Amino acid sequence: MSAAPGIAVLAGGVGGSRFVRGLLHGLRAEWPAAAGSPEEGMPGSGTAASVTVIANTGDDLWLAGLRVCPDLDSIMYALGGANDEERGWGRRGESERVSAELTAYGVGWPWFTLGDLDLGTHIARSSWLRDGLPLSEATARLCARWNPGVTLLPATDDEAETLVTVADEAGGTRQLHFEEWWVRHRAALPALAFTQNNVERARPAPGVLEAIAEADVVLFAPSNPVVSIGTILGIPGIADAVRQTAAPVVGISPIIGGAVVRGMADACLSAIGVETSAVAVGAHYGARGLPSAGLLGAGLPGAGLLGADLPGAGLLDGWLVDSTDAAAAESAAGGPLAGIRTLARPLWFHTVEETAAIAADALALAARSRP
Ligand code: GDP
Ligand code: CA
Repeated sequence: MSAAPGIAVLAGGVGGSRFVRGLLHGLRAEWPAAAGSPEEGMPGSGTAASVTVIANTGDDLWLAGLRVCPDLDSIMYALGGANDEERGWGRRGESERVSAELTAYGVGWPWFTLGDLDLGTHIARSSWLRDGLPLSEATARLCARWNPGVTLLPATDDEAETLVTVADEAGGTRQLHFEEWWVRHRAALPALAFTQNNVERARPAPGVLEAIAEADVVLFAPSNPVVSIGTILGIPGIADAVRQTAAPVVGISPIIGGAVVRGMADACLSAIGVETSAVAVGAHYGARGLPSAGLLGAGLPGAGLLGADLPGAGLLDGWLVDSTDAAAAESAAGGPLAGIRTLARPLWFHTVEETAAIAADALALAARSRP
């Protein structure tokens, strides 16, 4: 690549934003924005390369009358330098006075605390939504304050929330919102299935399909393959755009040595019948141009069932795995990972510099994995 690249990244919240922060750090060094010409780069990016982040909106919810978008906000705060580095999420210098008031009224979820500063974001967003603006426009207005250095797009402007099916006491099943399952129950209730509510009516947000079609490189951040990347790909039209783009498509494994690096993604993978391993997740995404491995979900029929809805051809040209998974990836080259070029290197995001080096290797793998 001679000109500064255009990169589209599919991403969830914390894992996604850590990765993109490293990506931007590396791009600043390699393709710095020309001095004195701010128009060369996005505000806050410092690079002539352009990055569009397509964020998961499956975690979004209405709470206390407000639209809360956890993954969009994690990315905006982390890239805009407003996040709490120690906690790893939310706003720096946060307090929780308003949440205590809401709890006293019995409004909202007592186990899902919204910080006071964070509530300002949700109020602003909800106010714009109430005025009739789409989520993508509300997101652009929020980002105008934080300058995340990327074009941050919700996967969809429509509400397609992730619901989790679990067993109930009466021997049947019930559904709860993903955030209730994840935060209140710490993903400990065995999930029988994940459903994207109303996804059949959802459309990709403006700019999403264009960003994938026009990118020089498409990356899957090392985000949760089911409830972050899977939900983005579940919006009708997005997986096909990935299959059809002229750009190479490279994923970064969120699984290292058979374990999730941080978090509880294994609970999601087992629910859709995918082993918690770098090879199995790569095979789940599948090789572009080849029929996918056809890994099915929990076997329940129904629209929007995650895990069961990656039919047809696969999505990846390249798959970046950790060094500990090098041998497994190599031996899977003629089997589950056939058609996918793999590269192994350490994948822990210890520092922003190390993350930048991981992102640089993802771009190098992309350059060698042209479809
Ligand atoms: P969430 O929306 O906040 O849950 O975050 P994401 O879905 O974007 O990312 C969560 C995933 O990031 C976890 O399941 C981890 O597997 C992955 N992850 C977190 N830290 C690292 C890291 O240092 N290296 C890699 N390769 N993956 C990571
Ligand atoms: Ca999330």
